[in-house]
Amino acid sequence: MARPDSHGNVLVFIEADHGEVASVSLELVCKARQLADVLDVEVQAGIIGNQLENLTGEILAYGCDTLFMAEDERLTLYETVPYSETFSSIVKRTRPQIVLFGATPIGRDLAPRIASKLKTGLTADCTELKIADHEDKKHNKTYENILYQIRPAFGGNILATIVSPDHQPQMATVREGVMKLSEPSSNNRGVVVSFKPDLIDGDFVNTLVERVVGKRKVNLKAADIIVSGGAGVGSKEDFELIYELASTLGGLVGASRAAVDNGYVSRDHQVGQTGTTVRPKLYIAAGISGCIQHQAGMNQSGKIIAINTDPDAPIFQIAHYRIIGDLNDVIPVIIKAYKSNNREPSGA
Ligand code: FAD
Repeated sequence: MARPDSHGNVLVFIEADHGEVASVSLELVCKARQLADVLDVEVQAGIIGNQLENLTGEILAYGCDTLFMAEDERLTLYETVPYSETFSSIVKRTRPQIVLFGATPIGRDLAPRIASKLKTGLTADCTELKIADHEDKKHNKTYENILYQIRPAFGGNILATIVSPDHQPQMATVREGVMKLSEPSSNNRGVVVSFKPDLIDGDFVNTLVERVVGKRKVNLKAADIIVSGGAGVGSKEDFELIYELASTLGGLVGASRAAVDNGYVSRDHQVGQTGTTVRPKLYIAAGISGCIQHQAGMNQSGKIIAINTDPDAPIFQIAHYRIIGDLNDVIPVIIKAYKSNNREPSGA
């Protein structure tokens, strides 16, 4: 059995498309920095594509020590076989103890292939990662500085901590928005190691006929203010009240999964474990009970205001301000008060 190599670094797969680094990759570099500092090792990253030079500065600024850059014209767009060949060559070369991927469609395709090639485990959709010691009572063994891979399990009702102490590297995927982005700094000085991957034409088995890129309609991640409605809103028509409050406050509309499933609003508004993870300065939850799967996507918000008729609703346990009442009464009062406080002085 392979034992963890405590000298191995923390490696991040960097996803890039259309000349931009995916935000989840930068978030993972920040998380990798924290883990590497605890372990006293380096943060390394691997980026694959073509003409990537312009992207390297940003990745290093977030705390990457060494960036492996694999360029080839044929790698301009993601393709499973050549990308997994190239990234596993980076893993074999760097022998990391931890490898992190964004839980994006690409990360979800690539990470299991790498894990399978390396005969190691993979924990998908982690919501927290930390370094701690692990005691295996059954075999009377203690492992030092193991990666705790924490994620919701059994429908989100419990948080499971998963470890793979006997296999190397320890691998995890993490969804966008879960890890906090720290401030980039030009003082972070890493190095770029550029190389041409060893690929044959046979690695490229697909022919791209057409590429259709769908645009995300609602960018909840970037919003400072989110007003979310839940099943308690009652109908698609009544959801207009949520839109009205959001537009009054200059925010965006979010929703619980129940509101989406009931057809009140489209799925790209969903916040939570299977929706978007958000960290706005202000999150207003109206008619949302606050199940753990919803909380998983918004409990890092700066301030949370909850409006609910049920004083025992779980959302009140994490809310900074609690309004017990019918949202149909409360929201118009908030809109009116906000508008009258922000009215321009006459003659201005
Ligand atoms: P409810 O739980 O039905 O709550 C409605 C609330 O509205 C109640 O608290 C009620 O008191 C209140 N209310 C009713 N009328 C009014 C009124 N007039 N004024 C004020 N308050 C009122 N859920 C998510 O949200 N996001 C996810 O990403 C997500 N992922 C999931 C993943 C899995 C694997 C599973 C199993 C579930 C997931 N869920 C998710 C579903 C989650 O468990 C809950 O079912 C859902 O969050 C409930 O939505 P809700 O709070 O709007 O509805």
